[in-house]
Amino acid sequence: MDGKNIIEEDKQYIAGTYARFPVAFRDGKGCRLYDYDGKEYIDCGSGIAVNVFGVNDEKWKKAVTDQLNCIQHTSNLFYTEPQARLAKMLCERTGAKKVFFGNSGAEANECAIKAARKYGETHYGPERKQIITLKDSFHGRTLATLAATGQDNFHRYFGPFPEGFSYADPTIEGVKKCMTENTCAVMIECIQGESGVNVLDGEFVRGLEKLCRERDILLICDEVQTGNGRTGYLYSYMAYGIQPDIVTTAKGLGGGLPIGACMLFEKCADVFGYGDHGSTFGGNPVVCAGACSILERLDDKLLESVREKGAYFKEQLSKIKGVKSVTGAGLMIGIETDKPAAEIAAECVKRGLLVLTAHSKVRLLPALTISKEEADFAVRILNEVISR
Ligand SMILES: *Cc1c(COP(=O)(O)O)cnc(C)c1O
Repeated sequence: MDGKNIIEEDKQYIAGTYARFPVAFRDGKGCRLYDYDGKEYIDCGSGIAVNVFGVNDEKWKKAVTDQLNCIQHTSNLFYTEPQARLAKMLCERTGAKKVFFGNSGAEANECAIKAARKYGETHYGPERKQIITLKDSFHGRTLATLAATGQDNFHRYFGPFPEGFSYADPTIEGVKKCMTENTCAVMIECIQGESGVNVLDGEFVRGLEKLCRERDILLICDEVQTGNGRTGYLYSYMAYGIQPDIVTTAKGLGGGLPIGACMLFEKCADVFGYGDHGSTFGGNPVVCAGACSILERLDDKLLESVREKGAYFKEQLSKIKGVKSVTGAGLMIGIETDKPAAEIAAECVKRGLLVLTAHSKVRLLPALTISKEEADFAVRILNEVISR
């Protein structure tokens, strides 16, 4: 099949939920992807912050295929070595006490919501179930995580939604306005990805941690997008010097295979008992073996290189005529311009550069191993397209 046939078949048979770019990819290496005509693209999206080491990564492939050659799935009725090893690595790197594995970011957040609500009920009674999220947040596409998402346009068509969420301005006063004695948790993204790479203010985040601690309200950090080295820290909350009670992650953790993790810290380490939660595929050994190979390589040296590359991108992008601001941290970058972001992205694709959008901004989430040459190509194309 050539690219055109694939696109036609997809349009005929796939539910129409995605506005795709008119490209089908056949293969690639690192940050370079090739379509069915052999045209090369430099990838600054990495499958939405998923392919941490790009595509076709040798170490990750070896970890995955080694496990594939042993056993591909057991169900969670049995123990597997990769799942235990990944959980141990996550706990050792973060200070978390326990981990629950699902298959996606939304599932990781569902788990966090359930954990917070059970904590609330166990310690304070059945009324303590309310969760505060922030305006412009994004937490997923299941009914509960849509309800948790602080954007009105995600609250259409599919109601009734689970109750018990309220949406605060990202200020201490804003959160206090929503807080009641029935609040069991506050959930934040330290950098809001989908709504435009909005970096939360450090004083706000540290003030929020203090406020939550005083009232025994759990602080949940949604690190689905910001996690796994993306921002130049293993998890973005680490740059704020705070200690959340629950951390969720997904996207980059599996390096390209589906996984979600809900990390439970001290307070809610033992919140779940037998039968409280579960997943058929969650913590699949093949996926976990790949994730171990990702996490292992996210060491201090790599994280430092992510911070350096991010600073370089920011400096170069800020010089482009027509760029109004550059936000983000590490290799999670938002670019504000006067032009519609979708138009810029479409124009970049034609020129062999893949970028993402986030509300009105262009968003870059390249593989953490992107080279200087590839970064310079991205800047050059963005310059052509934006300043045109
Ligand atoms: C992508 C994302 C999710 C949802 O993850 P899925 O794997 O698509 O379910 C949740 N929260 C944040 C911050 C995200 O960026």
